[in-house]
Amino acid sequence: MQTAKILDGKALSAKIQQELSTAITKVQSQIGRSPGLAVLMVGDNPASAAYVRGKERACQKVGINSFGRHFPTNTSQAELEAEIAALNQDERVDGILVQLPLPAHLNSVELLHKIEPDKDVDGLHPLNLGKLVRGEAGLRSCTPAGVMRLLEEYKIELQGKQAVVVGRSILVGKPLALMLLEKNATVTVAHSRSHDLESICQTADILVAAVGIRELITREMVKPGAIVVDVGINRIVDADGNSSLIGDVHFESVSIVAEYITPVPGGIGPMTVAMLLQNTVSSYLKKVEIME
Ligand code: NDP
Repeated sequence: MQTAKILDGKALSAKIQQELSTAITKVQSQIGRSPGLAVLMVGDNPASAAYVRGKERACQKVGINSFGRHFPTNTSQAELEAEIAALNQDERVDGILVQLPLPAHLNSVELLHKIEPDKDVDGLHPLNLGKLVRGEAGLRSCTPAGVMRLLEEYKIELQGKQAVVVGRSILVGKPLALMLLEKNATVTVAHSRSHDLESICQTADILVAAVGIRELITREMVKPGAIVVDVGINRIVDADGNSSLIGDVHFESVSIVAEYITPVPGGIGPMTVAMLLQNTVSSYLKKVEIME
């Protein structure tokens, strides 16, 4: 029996997209063009291709031009760096995104460093990560920003609360821990070397799972009344070959004890896309500030 209320990322993402579309319409004639997002993809990883298609569709919906740059698997580091240099200079492009993971012969960190920080809509450039550490305004990574925006929408109090983030990746766990800290939560970060994950999770008023292990978080690990955010996306294929997505949280059992929970799909996935569009539009709107 589910008692937890749903943190509906899909609905909030739709609302944000509507707001962005209105904001774009307002300033488009002043700037003289639509916002632009360039998505670089290398190879033909089906999951990456699906994510890129989703991002391109969302761009189209809100009125952002998407410049797809799809390269074959054997593309060299130098070719990609040259493309990024060109996009950095391209005035039609407000945001540049490198779809990860890249094929093994490429150095993704080096590539991310080449993106102009003002166009780094994934918030992964060291300058933007450094601004996050310092609590300065800057482009924030989309998935953790999406988690924060969803919690804000539902007026979840963070100040003084015990937050546990399971996962410490540079893409999700680490930046999210800093964002929660910025909102005065007391933050614990757990990872694969943490001892007794269950006890750590049980302390959480706000529990975020960003691991990539299907249903790792079960009912016994969750404090009654906790807010549970599931970032994980695990693709499973059944005996008939049908694939579906499943989170890092055992939704059915955790829903009995949690106060709020995010579904998978329909939780943080759509929020990540919304934050990508928002970052692109905010870097586009800076042009108006420059013109004024
Ligand atoms: P990574 O693989 O980069 O990081 C996983 C983290 O989980 C690591 O810090 C790892 O610890 C930790 N971990 C692994 N096993 C355990 C364990 N048994 N107990 C505790 N911690 C563990 O993944 P990402 O951060 O990139 O992604 C995490 C999940 O979120 C994935 O399912 C991914 O698909 C999903 N995701 C979803 C997005 C969305 O839009 N909803 C966007 C991005 C990711 P250690 O550091 O010690 O190895």
